[in-house]
Amino acid sequence: MLLPQETSWAEGFEQNWQPGETGARDRLQDFLDNALARYGTDRDRPATAGTARLSAHLRFGEIGPRQVWHWPLNHVRSHGGSEDAAWSFLRELGWRDFNHNLLFHRPEMPERNLKQPFDSFPWRDDRNDFKAWSRGETGYPIVDAGMRELWDTGWMHNRVRMITASFLIKHLLLPWQWGEAWFWDTLVDADLANNTGNWQWVAGSGADAAPYFRIFNPVLQGEKFDSDGAYVRRLCAPLGSGAGRIAAGLCPQTLGSAVRSSGGGRRHFGGELFAAPRQSRQGPRAGTERLQRHQERGCIRQCGLR
Ligand SMILES: Cc1cc2nc3c(=O)[nH]c(=O)nc-3n(C[C@H](O)[C@H](O)[C@H](O)COP(=O)(O)OP(=O)(O)OC[C@H]3O[C@@H](n4cnc5c(N)ncnc54)[C@H](O)[C@@H]3O)c2cc1C
Repeated sequence: MLLPQETSWAEGFEQNWQPGETGARDRLQDFLDNALARYGTDRDRPATAGTARLSAHLRFGEIGPRQVWHWPLNHVRSHGGSEDAAWSFLRELGWRDFNHNLLFHRPEMPERNLKQPFDSFPWRDDRNDFKAWSRGETGYPIVDAGMRELWDTGWMHNRVRMITASFLIKHLLLPWQWGEAWFWDTLVDADLANNTGNWQWVAGSGADAAPYFRIFNPVLQGEKFDSDGAYVRRLCAPLGSGAGRIAAGLCPQTLGSAVRSSGGGRRHFGGELFAAPRQSRQGPRAGTERLQRHQERGCIRQCGLR
């Protein structure tokens, strides 16, 4: 169902990914040579190419976790780098193992809350809000930038995955399974264990999860991790004058307002921010139009949307 038909949903992906073992090894080598030393700080900055981008290669077995485990330590030992930098990277790789282990022991994890009290949580059932989220039309700059990065490239930065997932679950009060399904259909690294483990972590329903009352503030997160707005501007430009403030999540007239209804009965969140044409790698609006075409044709599985 997801194979390209009349139009290719993977249009433009080849600019970002080189599938295969050679691509995986090149990617790891490039990361070791150019980014490992600053990984501890850069890994949280979505505008910076500060992470390894190995997840899709790991997902499809084009490189093994043991290789990824040993190369960084060998690299710093032979090139004189800091072992601390290597360990901050390896700690993240450990989460992969943790989630795979969880899935092995709790095979119900993809569908069911690991913490049962969440079974009776009164989730909202609002398909329009879900659509706004999946299209990057919430009006919250960093959330929308993340959702557009996902659609345009098949990948989203980890920090922004946490922010967008928290927004769906804790601002919109929509079931984590809807978001998980959308990520499953759109991520090039979609991995059953990592995807469901992380969604349950954000929801608070998982093992060793973030507590239910911890909510990622999309404005403060934008200020902290995309302080100059470079990430938001790249994905949501052109925002016109004031783009710097908006990109940093500082647009009071929009972001100060809570979820509200507007224009033609369609619910959105300060959508006027994005009235300007959106930009993708293929040019303005191409990514969004492609998304609409596929959603209309039902090419993409969406919880309850078909
Ligand atoms: C809601 C949500 C959904 C996610 N869905 C997926 C998914 O479907 N597939 C997937 O591989 N990752 C998923 N992640 C984890 C993480 O976002 C990606 O592994 C990471 O962004 C991949 O980019 P990278 O290779 O540059 O990571 P790096 O920061 O370079 O990390 C190196 C490797 O460590 C592993 N890793 C890093 N962070 C995590 C983590 N939180 N959980 C598990 N493994 C991790 C990955 O294998 C990654 O390739 C999800 C995170 C969240 C919050």
